[in-house]
Amino acid sequence: MDKKLIMDYSLDELKTILQEAGFQGYRAKQIWDWMYGKFVGSFDEMANIPKTLREYLKEHFYLSPYDIVEASEGTDSTKYLLRSKIDGELIEAVYMNFEGKDDTWHTACISVQVGCPVGCKFCQTGLSGFSRNLTAGEIIGQIWIFEHMKKEVDRIVFMGMGEPLLNFDNVYKSIKVFTDKRAFGMSPRRITLSTVGIIEGMKKLLDSDLKVHLAVSVHAPLHDLRMSLVPVEDSNPIDKVLDMAHQYAKDRGVRLTAEYVMLDGINDSLEHAEALARLLRGKVKRINLIPYNDTFAGFRRPPEERILAFQNHLKDKGFIVTVRKSVGKDVDAACGMLRRRNL
Ligand code: SAH
Ligand code: SF4
Repeated sequence: MDKKLIMDYSLDELKTILQEAGFQGYRAKQIWDWMYGKFVGSFDEMANIPKTLREYLKEHFYLSPYDIVEASEGTDSTKYLLRSKIDGELIEAVYMNFEGKDDTWHTACISVQVGCPVGCKFCQTGLSGFSRNLTAGEIIGQIWIFEHMKKEVDRIVFMGMGEPLLNFDNVYKSIKVFTDKRAFGMSPRRITLSTVGIIEGMKKLLDSDLKVHLAVSVHAPLHDLRMSLVPVEDSNPIDKVLDMAHQYAKDRGVRLTAEYVMLDGINDSLEHAEALARLLRGKVKRINLIPYNDTFAGFRRPPEERILAFQNHLKDKGFIVTVRKSVGKDVDAACGMLRRRNL
């Protein structure tokens, strides 16, 4: 019999599984305490769980969904290449340090799919193809593995490999566990979901009870240009996506950010800035400019002064505009690179 991932199950589901196997339901909560409270790495460490149940768990479940293949250290971040115990697929998760005034914040950047079916032209993940969605347990497992290594996670960004709104149900289930007081107990305001904007998924998000921050990958203010960079623009026009995103953020009082990868000579002129201002006006106040992370595919990052001019133009129009500092330029925005090297 194939082993399952114990992190794929909600507390209620685990309870039912245990009861059906002849164990007491309350053991499920004890297991969760060990798993999501103490982050132990094996069922044998679950001291108050009877041996018969521990043996049953070992036979039927994996505790950690992954083996760590490689950890590559950048200046302010470490990128982990993880191998799924289910089928050996490789994904990556990044642990980043942000120096604040008084202390350091730790943000985890996690993946939701193996590869990505969207295929944005400047994105390594998109160009490396798509194999499958991650399960809820495989999404949770990325944060779990950091906590297990005593790397505390203060914030989570869904900005690794894959498109969260194309794997909504598993992303939803994972966020429920991240915010559950009986598990990770994180405030939803410490979680940001980044999406390229998929109308079907936006509907699900709007209908859900999620209250996480939202970032929309805009990248181009005009339909034709966006089509050439982000192929899903075709059936998921950005103005419609932004209407829905605005509605979502307004209803819940959460933060909405427009992400904009800056590509030299392609989307970085003042005319583009002007068109972006028109597109976002009344819907999005915050813009995060992401200087393209030079990796491949013939794109280049614009010179510093062009980025500044673009930023200032939008600031003058009343937007709050940040330029993403390359947290360890080598690993941060270059999601997808590590896996590719190892294929
Ligand atoms: N699929 C989601 C989330 C993952 S990508 C999305 O597209 O929003 C997270 C962010 O990294 C996106 O804004 C994406 O456009 C950006 N990105 C991808 N490749 C990049 C690169 N080579 N340089 C800079 N940013 C990149
Ligand atoms: Fe997928 Fe996001 Fe990369 Fe586009 S930028 S291919 S949506 S991961």
